[in-house]
Amino acid sequence: MTHGIRPYWQNFIGGAWVDGGDGTRITVTDPATGQPIAEVARGTPADIDRAVAAARACFNSRVLRDLRPHKRGDLMLAVARELDACVEEIALLECHDNGKTLAAGRAEVALTQRYLTYYAGLADKLEGRQIPLGDGYIDYTLHEPYGVSAQIVPWNGPLPVGARSIACAIITGNTVVLKSPEDSPLSLFVLAEACQRAGLPAGAVNIVCGYGHDAGAALAAHRDIDQIVFTGSVATGQSVLRAAVDRVVPCVMELGGKSGAIVYADADLDRTAASAVRGIFNHAGQICSAGSRLIVHRSIHDDLMARVQALAAKRSVGPGVDGYDMGPLINARQLERVEALCRAGVAEGATLLMGGARVAGLAGHFMAPTIFTGVRPDMRIAQEEFFGPVLVVLPFDTPEEAIAIANGTDYGLAAGVYTRDLKLAHWTADRLVAGQIYVNEWWAGGIETPFGGMKRSGYGREKGQEALLGYVQTKNVAIRL
Ligand code: NAD
Repeated sequence: MTHGIRPYWQNFIGGAWVDGGDGTRITVTDPATGQPIAEVARGTPADIDRAVAAARACFNSRVLRDLRPHKRGDLMLAVARELDACVEEIALLECHDNGKTLAAGRAEVALTQRYLTYYAGLADKLEGRQIPLGDGYIDYTLHEPYGVSAQIVPWNGPLPVGARSIACAIITGNTVVLKSPEDSPLSLFVLAEACQRAGLPAGAVNIVCGYGHDAGAALAAHRDIDQIVFTGSVATGQSVLRAAVDRVVPCVMELGGKSGAIVYADADLDRTAASAVRGIFNHAGQICSAGSRLIVHRSIHDDLMARVQALAAKRSVGPGVDGYDMGPLINARQLERVEALCRAGVAEGATLLMGGARVAGLAGHFMAPTIFTGVRPDMRIAQEEFFGPVLVVLPFDTPEEAIAIANGTDYGLAAGVYTRDLKLAHWTADRLVAGQIYVNEWWAGGIETPFGGMKRSGYGREKGQEALLGYVQTKNVAIRL
């Protein structure tokens, strides 16, 4: 194998590195070349059983629960410190198994460390309540961990998505079995190594790579898990929910999006164009909260789109490791899906301003930056998630019409508004149905701000203090004195 990447990676179960139960492996390929770069042990349902048993034993031992909360925080601080030495290794892995740029790979490590340190700091701040019941009684509430937290992670940002869920689970006293994504599993193994070096108790965090229909489905349906955190597509999320319903397992669901930004006539057009281009073309649009729809006041439409197109055209496309701005889509199947949806857009009568197909002459799964104008809200390209570098642009005349377009999909993950008028910004934010509203900057906010979906984009929140509430259950203790 090439690239200085370790050729074979094992799963991390019960504090030990193990082969897949049936000895088989998954080949990981570089989406920028289509070439194999490494193999990972294929986690089977039997491996999931072992991992859940290890997590259960660790939870039942109370080794985490009985720690002073700030000591659980210390463990996450130690994991964050261990990652200091792994920045370049992870950045390279993210280029080769995920299609990111080196800069984006390094940023993922920094983001991951921020999640770990942020939640480390919250470990001793999750407080219960004292409820007055009158003379002769004392009543208080406790935030209890659920037990074994089953976490299923998508391929597009596995390290920070995995780390934020692990951190929330561990500081609240849960233990974790995480099913890493089969397309891009490598960076989470480095996180597992960091957990091991940081001295987490054996079984506190278990990371198993396996196929979704196999290891993923086995984890979601496992009889001995107590909570599920799923991040991925709506269709898979629905199957996870069906599995959870039998045992009434609570779920945090972080699903897809078709997020739209409204651009009013008074917006700063240069800033809006730059923000919109970042919002859809970063990581080739493979971000759940990508700004994939631009809803533009008709009076500024042509002016804004000229600026957007000029910026988009400057984005170079090629392997991230070679310094290009925009890398590949994750696999051939996804490239074909995005191209097919583009063809549907043309067939439905949208205007292809640029792109629309794969980049010719490159070996990997590279899609050209694509923009459609003249899009109607009922077109497939205005309703379905591409998960690729495709921006669809819809004109509007009145704010009410803009709101109707923005809210007119099944999704409700993110939405945005560009205007200099603060009153209009509030009016709009109030009416948009989405878990996060970005005003004048796509992705304004941070790890401190709660993140999650409305409608079919899911429920529950990750990020911010609010995320912790998804990892604990309230116990009320009422005492007759
Ligand atoms: P996906 O749903 O195909 O896979 C997500 C994870 O689920 C993977 O680990 C996969 O192996 C596993 N899986 C697949 N089938 C399963 C099954 N039957 N049972 C249990 N697990 C199964 O999604 P993807 O292609 O990896 O990621 C892209 C999707 O994820 C997009 O829709 C994107 O919007 C969404 N996403 C959402 C967020 C968020 O925070 N809301 C973040 C990133 C990605």
